[in-house]
Amino acid sequence: MADRYLSFTGTAPGRFLTRRLGLPRPAPLHRWLPERPELDGGRLLLTAGKSDLDLAAADLGLTTAAEHPAAVVLDATGVRDVGTLAEVHTALHPVVRSVAESGRIVVLGAPLDPADHHQAAAQQALEGFTRSLGKEIGRGRTVNLVRLTDARAAASTLGFLLSPKSAYVSGQVVEVGAREVTPPDDPARPLAGRTALVTGAARGIGEAVAETLARDGARVVVLDVPQAEDDARRVADRLGGTSLALDITAPDAGERIAAALPDGLDVLVHNAGITRDRRLVNMPAERWNAVLDVNLASVLRTTDALLAAGTLRTGGRIVATASIAGLAGNAGQTNYGASKAGIAGLVRALAPRALDGHGVTVNAVAPGFIETKMTAAVPLFIREAGRRMNSLAQGGLPADVAETTAWLAHPASGAVNGQVVRVCGQSLLGA
Ligand code: NAD
Repeated sequence: MADRYLSFTGTAPGRFLTRRLGLPRPAPLHRWLPERPELDGGRLLLTAGKSDLDLAAADLGLTTAAEHPAAVVLDATGVRDVGTLAEVHTALHPVVRSVAESGRIVVLGAPLDPADHHQAAAQQALEGFTRSLGKEIGRGRTVNLVRLTDARAAASTLGFLLSPKSAYVSGQVVEVGAREVTPPDDPARPLAGRTALVTGAARGIGEAVAETLARDGARVVVLDVPQAEDDARRVADRLGGTSLALDITAPDAGERIAAALPDGLDVLVHNAGITRDRRLVNMPAERWNAVLDVNLASVLRTTDALLAAGTLRTGGRIVATASIAGLAGNAGQTNYGASKAGIAGLVRALAPRALDGHGVTVNAVAPGFIETKMTAAVPLFIREAGRRMNSLAQGGLPADVAETTAWLAHPASGAVNGQVVRVCGQSLLGA
């Protein structure tokens, strides 16, 4: 369903009215297009504190002067006490106004040092700073914080956050470890030679994920319920992949996926999900059980089965789908919120073990309001609230979730593990 308000605010009367009435003013976002793959403008590097980070290793094309930067990277890894936080203000205050529309601010922080509460206080302060700036900056601009120690290990993350691919990701804090990473041979097709399976990919977000992973070179397997077999086959044919008609709640779903992929799997995207909304007082057990089974139990079962069968190859990626409803809670969604919070628990606990045991990373995307058939069915008033109640004042597109998934699936994202990344335009819910 088209966002008519967004189109209207782009017209002269729309601009006039929204300014006069103090209404939300969403800016059209610059999303990734083959003919416009980068933001227009330079990438400015600023520093606060004394940094030891070797940013040149990330090869990001940063400069020390840019008049209307498309992106600003503030290296604040050297901020070790509250006094030095003043340098964050000194660095950004003069340039923040000049950052281009749909521009990016990426703050680089250090992991919190549990042995130094002054460093921890100053570094945690960067989180509140980032989220606050994200809420006030406007004009389609985003602000995110990356905690890192090794710039090379974070190159894929910084590349994503500084590109149009992260248009709907704002107010996020991502931690990147210090693992050795291998950049792909062909940066335009980083998943070439790899196989990716996406559950619930016959339509909606899953279809967009399959499409984006195929764009990045993966051979995709489009899994969906037998009732959606025709749609799944149509998607697979369009992307040069294969389809698999399977209900993931089947007790042997993992074994059947393993049998369908004798050569192994590199990227497993748990996207299939359902809602069965009711307040708890009115919710029959069937609704509760159906949502917990599709959204959480089957994710655990198939993940365990595919890891046990050795189907997921070393260097593999698991990306599960949470939701802001699981992080913030939502009236009428106790079942859904529980299932999606469970995903975050699964990711955090499994990530270190999967990496050590199988060389596999485990992360989650947590979409906010995304324009799909599911949200088009939401009553008008709630739909409008969902669209506007975020820092970008608009809904996201399936492609936004897909690009985030593709970044987590990237061969050079091996140091990103155990993260739950919201794709929500910095939703005001639970932010
Ligand atoms: P959708 O309903 O359009 O698509 C979901 C797909 O999953 C469908 O093709 C469906 O057939 C498939 N599916 C459902 N049960 C299945 C099963 N048992 N086995 C195999 N496939 C099954 O939903 P969507 O909006 O594209 O959402 C995709 C994911 O993103 C879900 O996990 C959803 O909870 C999550 N999410 C969506 C939003 C949003 O705003 N749309 C927000 C937060 C989270």
